Amino acid sequence: MSVYIECPRCGQGSVNSYRIVTTAEILQVCDECEAVWPPDIDPTPTGFADLEDELARRGLPLGWEQLEELEWP
Ligand SMILES: [Zn+2]
Repeated sequence: MSVYIECPRCGQGSVNSYRIVTTAEILQVCDECEAVWPPDIDPTPTGFADLEDELARRGLPLGWEQLEELEWP
């Protein structure tokens, strides 16, 4: 099963699921434009947040080292 989802925001990146290392929260993040969606929805062109804002709300600095990509079987 492929989990590749083309980003509906930028159309270039792929959306993958990540865990925030410090909070263990799951987010879907585009690896190109850093758009963020909740884990339980299909990514849409409008319902996204920005990774920087999502991390800032949790008091975390912006950086991919804050995220751990989820491994799927
Ligand atoms: Zn994107």
